[in-house]
Amino acid sequence: MSTIKKILLRIIENLGGFQLLRSIKKNDPVVLMYHRILKDDFVNGLAPQEFEKQIAYISKHFNVVSIEDLLRDAKNNCVKPYSLALTFDDGHNDFYTHAWPILKKYNFPASLYITTGFIDGTTWLWPDLLKYILLNSNTAILKVENLGDISTHKTEHHISWHKLGDHCLTLSTDARNSLLYKLADDAKISVSETPQPPFHSVTWPQLQEMHREGLVVGSHTVTHPILSSLAIENLHYELAASASAIQQHLGATPIGICYPNGRPEDISEAVIKAAELSGYTYGLMGRYSRFNNTRIFNIGRIAANKDFFYFKWTLARRKQDIPSSYIQ
Ligand SMILES: [Zn+2]
Repeated sequence: MSTIKKILLRIIENLGGFQLLRSIKKNDPVVLMYHRILKDDFVNGLAPQEFEKQIAYISKHFNVVSIEDLLRDAKNNCVKPYSLALTFDDGHNDFYTHAWPILKKYNFPASLYITTGFIDGTTWLWPDLLKYILLNSNTAILKVENLGDISTHKTEHHISWHKLGDHCLTLSTDARNSLLYKLADDAKISVSETPQPPFHSVTWPQLQEMHREGLVVGSHTVTHPILSSLAIENLHYELAASASAIQQHLGATPIGICYPNGRPEDISEAVIKAAELSGYTYGLMGRYSRFNNTRIFNIGRIAANKDFFYFKWTLARRKQDIPSSYIQ
């Protein structure tokens, strides 16, 4: 956002414009999307203090409901004004250490969508593996076909991560995995099977504890692939095996699927059909679209922005533009 736009918006906010916008859109429910809640110089996340600031703001201006209650209310045509549901993706350990204590403090319902292979400690989330390689590389430059030289220098690794990440998004799962392990070889580092801190997951016992305390757990597949790119048997495996792992560990069958990457093009009709067949009753996207009760397998979400002012603005206007290649 440009400085001039920010100044203008601050004036609008001070004149009560955000409040006015929120009240105009009070019957448009918000589904808010969070990823990591941690403060780390090299890992993308929202600092716990900033997260609490956002949660405190939400508690003043919105009516926090679980996504299940929101869907039930929508079905019965009685969505509460200012309804907002909190959702979290992936299942990194900081959800347990940082997010959940704050959510409990405010007594807010929330849903966490987990990648079950990641929780089992057998799968790295590939954007994390990419970052791990760049952060630990023993060589200054990595050569990548079609991309040229990629710097692993600390000051440039964020740019390198995006460059490589955008490239990875265009590859099949197998091609992406071979590229990542070739990069690890070139960087002269060995990659353990289980993701290492700060890329480690929440554990099943921690999930059991939070589930007993009210956390709703949904599926974010087994290995976090782009579902629309999969052959039908792999698609069914990702949807069904993640649901049965959750059922096995938590004793509750998940009804929500959160599509990895979550762009509209990552969610085909075949994906939705397979999700329904696997017993899911709703699906979450990673992009914003207006809540529509007749499209509950394409529920749009607003990504909680790190910038508090932009966060408030996005919640007021119920709109968000994200670059199409944004990794999540
Ligand atoms: Zn994800």
